Amino acid sequence: MCTVNNIKGEIDIQRLPVNFEEYKINDWTIKYTKSHILHSLCVTTEKCNEKLEEQCLLCLYTNTLQLPHLPEMVFPNNKLTIVHPNGSFIEFNTLDALKRVSNGKQPLKVAYAETWKESRLPENLEEKIKPFDWTFSTDYRGTLSKSAVVMATDERIDIEKLKQKEKILFYQELMLYEDELHDNGISSCTIKIRVMPSSFFVLLRFFLRVDNVMVRINDTRVFHDFNTDYILREYTNKECGVTELKLPLTMFGDPNLLSPYMPVRTTIYEKILFNDANAE
Ligand SMILES: [Zn+2]
Repeated sequence: MCTVNNIKGEIDIQRLPVNFEEYKINDWTIKYTKSHILHSLCVTTEKCNEKLEEQCLLCLYTNTLQLPHLPEMVFPNNKLTIVHPNGSFIEFNTLDALKRVSNGKQPLKVAYAETWKESRLPENLEEKIKPFDWTFSTDYRGTLSKSAVVMATDERIDIEKLKQKEKILFYQELMLYEDELHDNGISSCTIKIRVMPSSFFVLLRFFLRVDNVMVRINDTRVFHDFNTDYILREYTNKECGVTELKLPLTMFGDPNLLSPYMPVRTTIYEKILFNDANAE
């Protein structure tokens, strides 16, 4: 068996190919799977071509995404699921995150065309960056069960409250994918979750740095106060040219250091209600 229940944390997870954990609090269930990197070669080509429903993960990713190439490191089984007491859920998974990467047919909206002009990029570089395929940029905000209802809201996640010291009951970090852009920077998509006695908080972060050119952070924050019956979801896109920031180069390795200095380009504030999944 390659699945292990690690609820008590007694097992050396490094030695196991798949790690699964489930945490329950106030009738919510928080669960994740963590596993190995996507293999780079299909060894069952014939079967994969014949029966699409039985294709290997590599073929599933390749066929679904239609990208010129996949990120260097893809973790196809890494997934975080937060299940409401009634069975509805919000989930964060690698395939859905990569589905939001432009494959050239449906380019993502880019709000920084003018920034490029300001940063006076060499022409050929500008051309190279425009299609955005190879940066693997995603504006993924999670995958919702059908019973979830999303609406715009004026309510904001109380960041100050989150900064208060509260006991952390559960914490986990997952990487969905990463690519070093052929040594030209970094593109990564990661998830962090922490559960406190009063609430839980998720940060899904896409970070892109094209060395000497630009940085981008697409953050999705999900917050639930156990005293309410909804979750708040906030998406922000921050990005700018490297020269705009006037910061020491050493800071460019750490999105946490960069983020406060980067201009916000887009924000989406949502409230998500979970209807009873069984009532449909
Ligand atoms: Zn295959």
